[in-house]
Amino acid sequence: MSFKYMPVLRSRENEKRAFKNFFDNKIFSSNTIIPLIEIIQYSPNRKNTTDSKLPEEIFEESYVNEFKNYDFPIIVDIPMYIDLNSNIKQKYKDFLSEMLSNSNKKTPSKRLIYFNKLSKLKNIIPVVSYNPNAPYPLKTISTQEKYLRTNFNKIAFRVFVNINTITHILNEVEQSITSEDILILDLQDDDYKETKFNTLFQKIEDIKTSKKCKTIILNTPITEDIIKKNKNVQNDCPINAIDNSIVFSYKSFGFDAFGDYAGIKKYLGPDNNGNNYNPPVTYNIFYAYHQNKYIKFKSQTINASKPVVAPSITKSKCWNMYGHTHHKNCPGCIEINNKSIDTSKPGNWGTWQAINIQHYIYTMNDFL
Ligand SMILES: [Zn+2]
Repeated sequence: MSFKYMPVLRSRENEKRAFKNFFDNKIFSSNTIIPLIEIIQYSPNRKNTTDSKLPEEIFEESYVNEFKNYDFPIIVDIPMYIDLNSNIKQKYKDFLSEMLSNSNKKTPSKRLIYFNKLSKLKNIIPVVSYNPNAPYPLKTISTQEKYLRTNFNKIAFRVFVNINTITHILNEVEQSITSEDILILDLQDDDYKETKFNTLFQKIEDIKTSKKCKTIILNTPITEDIIKKNKNVQNDCPINAIDNSIVFSYKSFGFDAFGDYAGIKKYLGPDNNGNNYNPPVTYNIFYAYHQNKYIKFKSQTINASKPVVAPSITKSKCWNMYGHTHHKNCPGCIEINNKSIDTSKPGNWGTWQAINIQHYIYTMNDFL
């Protein structure tokens, strides 16, 4: 396995669509890119949740049916870092709070039991992790690893860059990790260039050398904070505060691969009283590989409900730098091109999320 990039995708409709397109294009079959899917609901297919089945049956049916179609490795997490008091959709809160509720020590948590429901699929790599927002209960890592090891050949360990606890946690990882496994360092919103991380990166490189595992640095270039502070960036101009330099520097920090949120903001969307959260976009950010920048494109309003950003993108310099072959084959750019022809289509948040993910991952696959 020699991969370089791990896009993190959530189990939502738009990501599912992007995922299927990549399967059709054999993007993940090259093994350069291995996706990490964060499961955040019982089923990404809403219709299933109205029937009389038990939640675990809905979960198993939904994800086994989805993942069984793919013949490449998929890292799967039921994320433990998400703050359940934050403003996220109720259905995600319901699912994650059941998964993360404190387990009686004699029985495994729901999260582990649900992982095992995917163990019949040989391409699944489950994630051992913990809640970085709470004190670390000793042996969380090793207990999960022992439980999952009986059913999975490969395991990924996701640790968070909290300087106070990370040394102890990495010692536990070192006891459990094997040469088949993957160690993911999640930087969350921190800047990887801060010198305080040098010792930590060295420690991870040491684990890699002694255990022969793969290591990934997971970065969050597009934060909520950056988006808020850069509201006034002009049309067709880069948002310079988004630092994506890790694409070219992860190796110099000793990692085998880097990860990020596939060209979109790490954001689960607010709960909109149970309604589908699909606002019209006021602007979009388009990834320009040749500058390694995200370029902002404001919506042009055709009428109040139909803002479009596509014509503006397709006339830009960064669009032209990609060239004809990319535009013809990249599933994201194909959609943008179609939109520039049919401007009567409303551009909404979900549609642009899917377009951005597809364009970003396709670009990484082209250039890495
Ligand atoms: Zn593209």
